[in-house]
Amino acid sequence: MPAIQCELGADGVLLATMDLAGKPMNIIDAEMAEALAALVERLETDAAVKGLILTSGKADFFAGADVDHLWGITTAQQAFDESMRFKGFLRRIERCGKPVVAAIHGRCLGGGLEIALACHHRIVLDDGAARLGLPEVKLGLLPGGGGTQRLPRLVGMQQALQWMAEGTEVKAAQALASGLVHALATSRDEMLAQARAWIAANPKPVQPWDAPKFRYPGGDSRSPAAVQMLAIAPSIASAKSFGNYPALTHIMSSVFEGGLVDFDAALAIESRYFAACVVSPESRNLIGTLWYQLGAIKKGASRPAAPPPSTVRRLGILGAGMMGAGIAYVSARAGIEVVLLDTSQSNAEKGMAYSQGLLDKAVKRGRRTPAQRDALLARITPTTDYAALQGCELVIEAVFEDRAVKAEVTRLAEAQLAPGAVFASNTSTLPITGLAEASVRPASFIGLHFFSPVDKMPLVEIIVGARTSDETLAKGFDFVRQIGQTPIVVNDSRGFYTSRVFATYVMEGLAMLKEGVHPRSIEVAGLQAGMPMPPLALQDEVSLSLGVHVADQTRKDLAAEGKPYVAHPGEGVLRQLCEIGRVGKKAGKGFYDWPAEGEPGEKRLWPGLGGLFPVKPEQPDQRELIDRLLYAQANEAARCLQEGVLRSVADGDVGSILGWGFAPFLGGALQFVNHVGPARFVERCRELAARYGARFEPAANVVALAEQGGRFEQGGPTPV
Ligand code: NAD
Repeated sequence: MPAIQCELGADGVLLATMDLAGKPMNIIDAEMAEALAALVERLETDAAVKGLILTSGKADFFAGADVDHLWGITTAQQAFDESMRFKGFLRRIERCGKPVVAAIHGRCLGGGLEIALACHHRIVLDDGAARLGLPEVKLGLLPGGGGTQRLPRLVGMQQALQWMAEGTEVKAAQALASGLVHALATSRDEMLAQARAWIAANPKPVQPWDAPKFRYPGGDSRSPAAVQMLAIAPSIASAKSFGNYPALTHIMSSVFEGGLVDFDAALAIESRYFAACVVSPESRNLIGTLWYQLGAIKKGASRPAAPPPSTVRRLGILGAGMMGAGIAYVSARAGIEVVLLDTSQSNAEKGMAYSQGLLDKAVKRGRRTPAQRDALLARITPTTDYAALQGCELVIEAVFEDRAVKAEVTRLAEAQLAPGAVFASNTSTLPITGLAEASVRPASFIGLHFFSPVDKMPLVEIIVGARTSDETLAKGFDFVRQIGQTPIVVNDSRGFYTSRVFATYVMEGLAMLKEGVHPRSIEVAGLQAGMPMPPLALQDEVSLSLGVHVADQTRKDLAAEGKPYVAHPGEGVLRQLCEIGRVGKKAGKGFYDWPAEGEPGEKRLWPGLGGLFPVKPEQPDQRELIDRLLYAQANEAARCLQEGVLRSVADGDVGSILGWGFAPFLGGALQFVNHVGPARFVERCRELAARYGARFEPAANVVALAEQGGRFEQGGPTPV
């Protein structure tokens, strides 16, 4: 089957249906590019063709570029040439002198939208599924098929910049209102009828930018409004990105410079910036991890091959507090019957009220109907009765972080469960193997570590205890996918993977404070490193008292195991603040003074910090601070891999980005080692170890990579 099937009607309208054989979505691969070239040729030369309707035979109009192909591009020249060649076809479509209409349904993204933008008229099927956008920035790229030039010429520079910088996908109504598309249709037949009518009425269309008196909506790069906006746009972008995402600057440059020259010159400018993005390390890091590694994980790379996929129909949740309530919501949202159990009926109902609150908001915003809300709520049963757990394929406990309480609920719940049912703990700190000692069926006991807030955090860390069976792991994995979250699988260990590595980031910030680094420099270094939140603010959010509690528990556990405990220099800082009641955000005071909940105002660094930790006169270079924050995490992640806590590089990278927001442009905590190069990583670690302590001694596996000239495995077109 050709990638584009053509059918010429008696009215001379060629209906071209894009439908790439063997692929779930249309993408611009070699086959599609060839088919597009042939289509353009026919449009130009076949006198019987009076006009063209471009549509899709898939569930969506078009997904975008072929990422495998982009990944294979090795030089900027190749990227430039290919982008120019593709745009050459699009330019021929819009200047062929015959009307071309894009009839769009479902998703129309990236290169697909760029094709549609080269059509003279765009109609969208308004069935709720339409999403139009240029999301290239999410993979560190910019639209290289004319998107940075056509979009601003249609919807104005400011709107276009905002959409491209954020990778926004707009729905049908907004696409129409903004001028991105010309008309909406209520059915496919109506859409095609509209397209034919438009073709009949517009035999000689000209694109707006090819018309002699073309003006940008809202002004071009020389207009006072645009000059003002473009003067501040880069600083707004870098206030968020700290210059870590070159694609953002390239998008702005392409739009601005393109607005100073004629359209064809503008297309060439765009291709130069596109080429710079394609070969940038940031883009390769993002694609390697958030496209390939994440894709492989979602397809089950870390799931045991047997048994066959399972689904949970009935789920038990013990503890209807913050975590239990969140897990109940995401599970009921996925269609699962949820038994939500707590010590009192009112506690259980309070947990259910969390779902009610979220759903009421969604109804108010028009995202859900009242009937959908009620159906979802009807799936949650608040109770205190353990007998209600009968028939559950999975029970997740989210009771207090206390071994005795957890042991008790394990015993009570297991008494109600059928043999194959799985019991999971959502503990954030207690080793799973130890908790499983309370279980009469430890092979069916597993850790499912959710993150807060559950409905916003996409990751679940699955923890395999010493006696957890493969079958239990597979069932846990399937459940996490069933509720639409991303699972990583780790072996049991103190702090598991995410909490352990995340702690090194925060603790390094605290150590700096102790050394006399200015607190604001520490916070800025965190953001410059690409972390979503600076270390001191983050510790306030997590709570300082929890940090002290975990340290005390660890010390006690290690002593019981006869192992030495090495205190991190940041630990003393936690204790000092806790001693004076500055225990974190919940108390309104920690490293910051926090405004009371619901009160206006911003958090402010506590002025008394300087008294406790005098700022030294000689402040370190900012790069040194950034490196410490990043190397501490990457080195600990490497140790997790070395010790077998991590089972794969992909889990380590994806888990770091989705779990605690490790700088995505670096591709994750392990990919960071590849990014700087293992040899340089080892060298820098040793410098830092000499200055700040043994915690920076490089992990043995990175030393081995450095010596052998290897790298951690990165995501790519071949399976991870
Ligand atoms: P929470 O205090 O908000 O909720 C705990 C709930 O468990 C309460 O509603 C309590 O009434 C109930 N409970 C206590 N004993 C019970 C019993 N015997 N039977 C039934 N219910 C009982 O706590 P949380 O923040 O939701 O944390 C719960 C678990 O999740 C803890 O193990 C915690 O370590 C873990 N966790 C928390 C976070 C987080 O960010 N808060 C993140 C990941 C994991």
